[in-house]
Amino acid sequence: MREQIRSWLESGEMDAFLGFKEVEGHPIPHLFSKANLAELEGLIVNAPRYPLETLVAEMLQSQPGMKLGVLGDETTRRALNVLSIWNQVSPESVRVIDPDQFAPEEKGARKVFRVSEPGPVKLERGIDNRLGVDAIQALDGDDRVRRWMYEFQKCIKCYGCRNICPVCFCKECSLEHQDLISTGTVLTEVPIFHLVRAVHMAGRCIDCGMCEQACPADIPLRLLYRKVNSIVMELFDYENGLSSDQPPLSVLGEKVVLELKPIH
Ligand code: SF4
Ligand code: SF4
Repeated sequence: MREQIRSWLESGEMDAFLGFKEVEGHPIPHLFSKANLAELEGLIVNAPRYPLETLVAEMLQSQPGMKLGVLGDETTRRALNVLSIWNQVSPESVRVIDPDQFAPEEKGARKVFRVSEPGPVKLERGIDNRLGVDAIQALDGDDRVRRWMYEFQKCIKCYGCRNICPVCFCKECSLEHQDLISTGTVLTEVPIFHLVRAVHMAGRCIDCGMCEQACPADIPLRLLYRKVNSIVMELFDYENGLSSDQPPLSVLGEKVVLELKPIH
């Protein structure tokens, strides 16, 4: 894989490659180019998941026309598709390089997310992060709301979920809008903080799981966004990230009359 990237950079087929390099024992995002080819020896091919996609968007916006490669996988492709739909990247400018396509010895054991075993309090009052949308939906309505509120009130408003998200790119974030959420204070506005973010993830979240992994309060965020996107799927038959040029509402066509439906 390193040799292939080297050859692309040397030939000019790729202007730069965004991957990871080890710095003091930690994988740090690093830009490899023709000017620093020797550094490719330090490229980490089995780095843990980290949202390089937002860096790709920033780089392509600051240098339009650049031909960029990025270390990634299917999740990266889906995130870039979403960013393309929202005009943050041009798909023809970026190529995802998946280590799994190269030599088996370079595949390595990429770190996968693991959901922790719930303790007795979480099982009694909260939501087991391992459950699926249908299992939560099957709970009694009041019980379900109580359990979500228990989870939301654990939030310390650290913004980790937003900051790690590969499809969060807004320059002005509603989660910092003083009329909705006051920054620099705890407690978190429950449930507005989480509902605002959930609504923004409708038609966008690619279920990478990084928000939940980053959350210090172990809130089942992935499940929340899966629920929101199951509604998008139900209403619009639309799955996020499958295409780079089809926004969710385009499936409605030119002129549509929506029937009001209860959302359970
Ligand atoms: S799972 Fe979380 S971090 Fe990943 S795309 Fe969805 S909201 Fe963003
Ligand atoms: S990462 Fe968790 S604790 Fe931090 S703001 Fe998001 S939900 Fe709240």
